[in-house]
Amino acid sequence: MSRGVVVATRPDGPGAPAYHGPVHGIRSAPWLHPDIEVRSSAIAGQGLFALAPIEPGVTVASFGGRLVSDDQLLALFESSEYVDSLSLDKDLNLVMPGRSPNGYGNHSCDPNLWWEDPALLIARRRIMRDEEVTVDYATFTDDPEYAMECTCQSSVCRETVTGRDWERAELRLRYRAHWSPAIRRHFSSAERRT
Ligand SMILES: [Zn+2]
Repeated sequence: MSRGVVVATRPDGPGAPAYHGPVHGIRSAPWLHPDIEVRSSAIAGQGLFALAPIEPGVTVASFGGRLVSDDQLLALFESSEYVDSLSLDKDLNLVMPGRSPNGYGNHSCDPNLWWEDPALLIARRRIMRDEEVTVDYATFTDDPEYAMECTCQSSVCRETVTGRDWERAELRLRYRAHWSPAIRRHFSSAERRT
């Protein structure tokens, strides 16, 4: 994952927002299932692959790091070449330490991972040995400027992934509650209960 996606702890430092939202229990460091490793990927660059089958519902990746406000995150983007971050909520972002293997997760329009809570990705279906583990970037990206060409080759490939894909009815039906909270805040209260 690149800019735009991450998970965190309480914001701190000057300008940090007071936070009373649903995000809690964020680890200070990222964690990856022991049967996942980084390999070169046919989708893009490097990706994460399963060394053994993983059953549906099993936690595959947990994001951890420190929490920062939007202004603090923008300052980091301006001062660093690479920042792995995840929007958690309004004006709340997680910044992961250094270059973590979790950051190599690629996008698919038919992903085998989805969000279980603000910082956890679980298996959406059974993952086979040597299968690349993927997440739909739309499930945690709401930057209206964001757009990425996709060549994931799934039968439901959208060809372009954007920061407005959360508005698509078919995706809201498909992922139900398994969006990041940063995206779910756009949904109606009735929809958030499903
Ligand atoms: Zn695609």
